[in-house]
Amino acid sequence: MYDYLIAGAGFTGAVLAERLASVSGMKILITDRRPHTGGNAYDYHDSNGVLVHKYGAHIFHTNSDRIWNYISRFTAWNGYNHRVDAMVESKPVPLPVNLDSLDALFNSREAKDISAALINEYGLNNKVAVLDLIECSNPILRKAGEVIYEKIYYKYTLKQWELSPRELKKSVTSRLPVYTTRGSSYFNDKYQGLPSGGYSPIFSKLLNNKNIDVITGMPFREAEKTFRFSKVIFTGAADEFFDFVQGSLPYRSLRFENFHYNKSSFQERAVINYPDDRPYTRILEFRKMTLQETAGTTIAYEYPQKYVRGENEPYYPIPSRENELIHKKYRLMADKLNSVTFAGRLADYTYYNMDQAIGRALSIYDKIAGKKV
Ligand code: FAD
Ligand code: UDP
Repeated sequence: MYDYLIAGAGFTGAVLAERLASVSGMKILITDRRPHTGGNAYDYHDSNGVLVHKYGAHIFHTNSDRIWNYISRFTAWNGYNHRVDAMVESKPVPLPVNLDSLDALFNSREAKDISAALINEYGLNNKVAVLDLIECSNPILRKAGEVIYEKIYYKYTLKQWELSPRELKKSVTSRLPVYTTRGSSYFNDKYQGLPSGGYSPIFSKLLNNKNIDVITGMPFREAEKTFRFSKVIFTGAADEFFDFVQGSLPYRSLRFENFHYNKSSFQERAVINYPDDRPYTRILEFRKMTLQETAGTTIAYEYPQKYVRGENEPYYPIPSRENELIHKKYRLMADKLNSVTFAGRLADYTYYNMDQAIGRALSIYDKIAGKKV
């Protein structure tokens, strides 16, 4: 008899399992339908010995001391600082767009004028969403915003979501604002890096507890029939849990094509984005982020695609008003179930980063444990 059956062994499920087992001494069964723990953060060594991220490049970043201190109990960090270029007309443009990027996107006279106007309008060391920039009252900035929108955001977003930036919630493209700084890193957070040794060892440590049993390759519905438990934490898709009675929630999926080369470097950066007509959005070179010393290098082309239930993975919820309304109906149904807690990127239908998934799990634990927060 388990206190909790947890469905999904990504960060949300694994952190909750760890807290409930190690602090509250509860008996936990955690199950994942995939053949491994780690959720989308899962990594492994490929046949060439290169550590690769199966479900796309994962770079940890957070501004939260609490989340950083918590997860750092399960890993050391490699100090990697994520820098990304967009390839625009065969020229690398630093992302997020910042004052340095203007030199690559405009002629030097224009870049100087735009830079001065940006600083004048928003101040130094600030940021502005591209969708706000194109509506700015200053015509120099509006025009610059339109060029940045066309060259960096428009085609990339169409490929990624099959929607234009304006059809999505503004929060999607605001993840990558335009900065009034020079030489910014992709993330602007207090802490960032990749776990030394990879993500999968974090999950082994989180779940290595006598109170936790782990089963992989088993979906929730099967575990529910097979084992006895008091309560459930469900981190899979909310629409699936309720048999789609309120309609299907759409997701975006991805396909990765990996290649190995017998050379130490394939491209300048760990990630290069292609905001153009090519069918892929980015190329990832793993050793440039894991900082693993290997003779050869493995890269992955990332192709966005439609999500088809049972055929591929639901990687991204699609943040739009319409989809949030469908999810709200499921949330109301979920609120009525006293013995089931819903959490995570799928169950909350929210575009969480890893730190946010961990933060959500920690606060749910606090609630369960009756802690004041
Ligand atoms: P998941 O990791 O999705 O785990 C949920 C698990 O539940 C899955 O393993 C799934 O198999 C399992 N499951 C689903 N349904 C069932 C069921 N019915 N029964 C049993 N098991 C079930 N975040 C960052 O912070 N930095 C990054 O650089 C970054 N890059 C990303 C790149 C890509 C391409 C993607 C898709 C995501 C990226 N993320 C990144 C986000 C990160 O992956 C998520 O924040 C994190 O994985 C969320 O953890 P989770 O446990 O909520 O969900
Ligand atoms: N984006 C873009 N061009 C880029 C990078 C990002 O248009 O070169 C937009 C796109 O809509 C993307 C969103 O910004 O989905 C968020 O980018 P992020 O890199 O955070 O996406 P993720 O890593 O989560 O896939």
